[in-house]
Amino acid sequence: MAEFSLDLTEEQRDLRDWVHGFAAEVVRPAAAEWDAREETPWPIIQEAAKVGLYGFEFLATCWADPTGLSLPIASEELFWGDAGIGLSIFGTSLAVAAIYGAGTPDQMVEWVPQCFGSLDQPAVAAFCTSEPEAGSDVGAMRTRAVYDEATDEWVLRGQKAYATNGGIAGVHVVTASVEPELGSRGQAAFVVPPGTPGLSATRKLRKLGLRASHTADVFLDDVRVPGRCLLGGKDALDERLARARSGQRASGQAAMRTFELSRPTVGAQALGVARAAYEYALDYAKERVQFGRPIIENQAVAFALADMKMEIDAARLLVWRASWMGRNNRPFTAGEGSMSKLKAGEVAVSVTEKAVQLLGGAGFLRDHPVERWYRDAKIYTIFEGTSEIQRLVISRAISGMQIR
Ligand SMILES: Cc1cc2nc3c(=O)[nH]c(=O)nc-3n(C[C@H](O)[C@H](O)[C@H](O)COP(=O)(O)OP(=O)(O)OC[C@H]3O[C@@H](n4cnc5c(N)ncnc54)[C@H](O)[C@@H]3O)c2cc1C
Repeated sequence: MAEFSLDLTEEQRDLRDWVHGFAAEVVRPAAAEWDAREETPWPIIQEAAKVGLYGFEFLATCWADPTGLSLPIASEELFWGDAGIGLSIFGTSLAVAAIYGAGTPDQMVEWVPQCFGSLDQPAVAAFCTSEPEAGSDVGAMRTRAVYDEATDEWVLRGQKAYATNGGIAGVHVVTASVEPELGSRGQAAFVVPPGTPGLSATRKLRKLGLRASHTADVFLDDVRVPGRCLLGGKDALDERLARARSGQRASGQAAMRTFELSRPTVGAQALGVARAAYEYALDYAKERVQFGRPIIENQAVAFALADMKMEIDAARLLVWRASWMGRNNRPFTAGEGSMSKLKAGEVAVSVTEKAVQLLGGAGFLRDHPVERWYRDAKIYTIFEGTSEIQRLVISRAISGMQIR
């Protein structure tokens, strides 16, 4: 087990500085343009692939860090550059994490490289679980997966909502219900290989923020995938379903744990947005003169900045704690994964709102990036589980009761 330490290792410091350099030199200068275009920034994904920031090797290096801090550190820096572009680069890792978490070694070897594509032609991947009628309530999923024994194929039918990279992805990882009576325990994840007939995404969704990241509803119209596309394989699924039918506990908990583990990384993204806004507002408050003195010389302004800094640092401690716990198999007995994402998401919203306020009229203009950060921050109280759902997880964990 790795010691928890706030003294970053040399590797962690190098990683932070390297990703920060990319964010400052490549991502941030391009942020306003791709936000306005509302398009996936392919040239920047390609650039990230070239320098080694986009690809399985990068993710694997981060995952290998025994302290668990590398991924949150890298995420904070990249999203400090821009959240929309950041998600275009890191969004693929959701699908990769699902394959890595639920797939067999053979499935890893077959599908993970296809998630990223090649250096010359990078691809993105999508992880599609939310549905129009099943957002927070994952158990209400209607997408069905039916096994066709004659052809050893799975047939997927249904609709997925809000999928990051939906339709533009090569690989789509899709969750579906195999035995609806079992709720979330009757679900499984499938790889839909690039170009599979029947998968379509009709329209790109237009959003408040994260506009450089593609989001779309995905339709599955009798999509047939080979048996080997069921993540984990059929034997493991049959075993899991048999356990669930007999009322044994286990796999439902495992799925919850996967979510809990990914949440600190999403919290780290929110921190990047919050820190960008805080730093910008601090500089502005030192420069902007009213009543013959810099506005920061007013306590109201300085105290707001002090609170912003304190909240960001507090959130980071929760994110790092949960990341360290997850990596070192410490059980989240009080919903620590949820705490980290909840706090960081809410801090991002409040800090970016304060930053707009501290810039006055300038904060409302597109001439400054603060209005974009304000728009981008809001997603962090919504996706990967809303703030209410995080509170539900925490309150159930601390009470041991079925809080609704
Ligand atoms: C930009 C973007 C990208 C996304 N990317 C992906 C993706 O890649 N893959 C994917 O699968 N999904 C993705 N999502 C979907 C996202 O995860 C869902 O929007 C989110 O989980 C909330 O679900 P919902 O929108 O259906 O809201 P609902 O579940 O309908 O919730 C509506 C409101 O009710 C509250 N609520 C619901 N149930 C309870 C309860 N029991 N107690 C208290 N309050 C409750 C919620 O907190 C919320 O405030 C994305 C969404 C967006 C906007």
